[in-house]
Amino acid sequence: MIPQNDIIMHSSKQTSSWQQQLADVVTSAEQLAQVLELPAAYLQAAQQASQDFAIRVPRAFLERIKKGDVNDPLFRQIWPLAQENAQPPAGFLLDPLGEASSNKTPGIIHKYHGRVLLVTNGSCAVHCRYCFRRHFPYGDNALSSQQWLEALDYIQQRPEINEVILSGGDPLTNNDKRLFGLIKAIGEIPHVTRLRIHTRLPIVIPARITDELVDNLTKSRLKIVVVVHSNHANEIDGEVAACLKKLYLAGIHVLNQAVLLKDINDDLPSQVNLSEALFDCHVLPYYLHLLDPVVGAHHFEVKLVEAQNLMLALQGHLPGFLVPKLVREVDGRPSKTTIDTPITPISNL
Ligand SMILES: *Cc1c(COP(=O)(O)O)cnc(C)c1O
Ligand code: SF4
Repeated sequence: MIPQNDIIMHSSKQTSSWQQQLADVVTSAEQLAQVLELPAAYLQAAQQASQDFAIRVPRAFLERIKKGDVNDPLFRQIWPLAQENAQPPAGFLLDPLGEASSNKTPGIIHKYHGRVLLVTNGSCAVHCRYCFRRHFPYGDNALSSQQWLEALDYIQQRPEINEVILSGGDPLTNNDKRLFGLIKAIGEIPHVTRLRIHTRLPIVIPARITDELVDNLTKSRLKIVVVVHSNHANEIDGEVAACLKKLYLAGIHVLNQAVLLKDINDDLPSQVNLSEALFDCHVLPYYLHLLDPVVGAHHFEVKLVEAQNLMLALQGHLPGFLVPKLVREVDGRPSKTTIDTPITPISNL
């Protein structure tokens, strides 16, 4: 749905507005197979696997996938495989991070000191098959106006909270009216000094980074940090690069978090190229997450030793500021858990 007052007229040579692109995402295996010229044999498994967690891919992202290549690192992130429905190994859970129990006030996830996640909405522009929130009860987090006030009140009542992290879903799928209203309300809480936005939209629908959005962010009293989510250098095309540079030039800190994914970015060239491509757009790597053990995603898992050896190799190839921190999230801990790099490669037996 496109809100009436958000429709912007474009000349034919411009790409369509972000709202149009968001409304026009590909949501079926048939459509994907057609656009990507895939063999029909792949369809049935994808249709079945997408019953629990629907397919959703913006066309701007699809354009970066090589046609007919089932090993494409972007394709693997969005195409449902039969393994999603296979019996998961021990330790793979529906809510691996215990978010349901930390979600006492609707919309608020408060686990770490000084900062809270504000779940602004449940929807994302893209459905990443490895997503740890694939079973999260998003419906319960589509907040009513009353619940908004309660979530803001939760922050207001706790002077130790100096950073609010807009999360989701993807907070930038909210329309400007809602988003700007929220940023304004957070800015009115005196003890909050930083606003962080965790979003994949700059990567999957870069047109979302409009001048209006950038203006609104820079005029806030809050220090703004945008944490994007890109897993592979192929995701960063010219349009994505331009939108990331625009944020940087506006004085917004931009960081990246990635997930370490088997056969997608678990090799040295992929990680080196990602860090270099990010820095070309002034973005610094922040976290490289080990996969959260969520049911349906075990086929993306990279074993701990392999991850540690990869980090050792990465440190041998890049300046320290282009090496992300390898982390995992352990339910109940007061922060992400960083994983040390070994001194020599660990034998993988
Ligand atoms: C990851 C996360 C944060 C942010 O952690 P940082 O280490 O500050 O990036 C905050 N709250 C929750 C619940 C999180 O999962
Ligand atoms: S953008 Fe983030 S929250 Fe949304 S599906 Fe992908 S990994 Fe999950």
